[in-house]
Amino acid sequence: MRAMVLEMPRTALAERERPVPEPGPGQVLVRVGACGVCRTDLHVVDGELTKPNLPIVPGHEIVGRVAATGLDVERFREGDRVGVPWLGWTCGQCRFCRTGRENLCAAARFTGYNIDGGYEEYALADQRFCFPVAGEASDAEMAPLLCAGLIGYRSLMMAGDAERLGIYGFGAAAHIVAQVARWQGRKIFAFTRPGDVAAQDFARDHGAAWAGDSGIAPPEILDAAIIFAPAGELVPEALRRVDKGGTVVCGGIHMSDIPSFPYELLWGERTVRSVANLTRKDGEEFLALAPKAGVKTEIEIFPLRDANEALARLREGRLRGAAVLVP
Ligand SMILES: [Zn+2]
Ligand SMILES: [Zn+2]
Repeated sequence: MRAMVLEMPRTALAERERPVPEPGPGQVLVRVGACGVCRTDLHVVDGELTKPNLPIVPGHEIVGRVAATGLDVERFREGDRVGVPWLGWTCGQCRFCRTGRENLCAAARFTGYNIDGGYEEYALADQRFCFPVAGEASDAEMAPLLCAGLIGYRSLMMAGDAERLGIYGFGAAAHIVAQVARWQGRKIFAFTRPGDVAAQDFARDHGAAWAGDSGIAPPEILDAAIIFAPAGELVPEALRRVDKGGTVVCGGIHMSDIPSFPYELLWGERTVRSVANLTRKDGEEFLALAPKAGVKTEIEIFPLRDANEALARLREGRLRGAAVLVP
């Protein structure tokens, strides 16, 4: 087996031979059909998220077929198509787990961070945290829904009923969220790195009414904004563009420091908040909603052995849509 394994932070992924694992009780063995490349993988590889269980196989946007099931697996059978997301295990007992907020469980374990993920030919997963994946779309087309789509959806819910929605950073998550938001009747204003004309065209192709450089004023004041780019300076920037009562949602797991800003930008009952992880309920809701909203992902496929190239392209912003690894 050719496995992509992260041995140490800040080093490239190493390839090594690994045997096909056996599913334990409650686990499914998934033959990976495709695994999306998420910015979080980049934060892990670059050492910006500091507590991965090393060595670790990254990757938490897995779509594949169940190849084998362990004892007591009743939700899936061999051959079923499943998705494996970032949330890999929760305690089920803490106050967060008991109140529908398992995404905040302090003992939670995450795929591709604490549990070996999908930059691999096979992955083991707890059946309770896998989703059935229906539909005609290919594994590679579906893979970005598992995190970019899900976290995007959770971010969109946190934006409330905003009609005029700003999106900062128009990559994998944004191009999915924009399609859902458009379907819901919202108007999208996309902000990209200054001068990134390709990303602005990409945003307009995926439903943005307006696209321009971050740092300039959109043609209308915004009701809310979602920031997917990991750049802290965008927080005061977005606050400046949001109307009274509006919310700025930070959708990423890591962001550079937020510079200080005048209280006036927050005044008027504006809110800044983050979105952390996902709940299984988010996943079920979003995977049911995506086909209704006609969500189509734009992907660039890389063979598994080119994982480092895919990560480099993501780091440099040289991707149109989502990168997906196919074993
Ligand atoms: Zn818990
Ligand atoms: Zn992710």
